[in-house]
Amino acid sequence: MERRDLLRFRHCGLTVYVLDESAGPALLLCPLCGQAVRFSLTEAPVRVRTPVRDGHRAACSFLITSQHGVAGLSEENDSELHVGISSSRGLVFSYTELGVQCQKVGWEQSIVVPLLSPGDDSLRFRTLWDKHLETFSGLNIWTADRFQEQREFGSCCYGFALSFVNNVMRSEGKGLISREHFTSQYVLPKMEMASRYLSMYEHICQHRYYCTSLMV
Ligand SMILES: [Zn+2]
Repeated sequence: MERRDLLRFRHCGLTVYVLDESAGPALLLCPLCGQAVRFSLTEAPVRVRTPVRDGHRAACSFLITSQHGVAGLSEENDSELHVGISSSRGLVFSYTELGVQCQKVGWEQSIVVPLLSPGDDSLRFRTLWDKHLETFSGLNIWTADRFQEQREFGSCCYGFALSFVNNVMRSEGKGLISREHFTSQYVLPKMEMASRYLSMYEHICQHRYYCTSLMV
């Protein structure tokens, strides 16, 4: 099921979250008091983008998905997570117990960590990325029987994906990134954001809105 963006605004002294109905702020009603919400320029509603996106439409990214669908993406369920790397054309490469898989479908509900900085986003870089990814995935070190083996950047799917990231860093003459650093800087913040969004989303689906006295 597709997850929509949320709208966040202040009303009735609280921070309120509702589903973005794309009707525009002019029609926004406060679910607490039922009044039409009027905003000044400085307090316009903020769109909270869904962190669960189609990984096949996220070029050159580190993707996190779950075989249990969106529910598996919350922090409490991280045992069934699977990670992969997308090409510039939406193919997703990941390491599984059957070896490396290249998939056109199956990653529609992913948490996306973009790996391209705006300065790198050129046709040259994207072409190189795809070539690297294909070559890297074809290396005979990513065989089914070695799936559990500890490598320089971890084991299983995570070790494969992060080794690829470092392979690109190396070829660009950049410093390598450790598993701890990548996880704490790039993966965990995204997972926390997704977890918060998913629990608010669930609450909103049941109660029409979510509110808090905090700005979160
Ligand atoms: Zn209100």
